[in-house]
Amino acid sequence: MLTFTPVHVNSKTDYRTMPKPQYTQKFRDAWLKDPSLKEWLLVIDSTLGRAAKCKFCSKIITSHYADLKSHDK
Ligand SMILES: [Zn+2]
Repeated sequence: MLTFTPVHVNSKTDYRTMPKPQYTQKFRDAWLKDPSLKEWLLVIDSTLGRAAKCKFCSKIITSHYADLKSHDK
């Protein structure tokens, strides 16, 4: 099975800042292209980098992809 992990999706990572620790939750550009996510998904800049935010309930989603999906329901 192929595991597709878009680690380096042409993101505008700010390399000027200090080296970041490994965050398990990272915003993925692929989320914006997901039809079931883009209806409500917003990208915000947080202290931890980009994060996903729900445009309807203004909730910041820092969960896994699966949780993003379930939030849609
Ligand atoms: Zn919401």
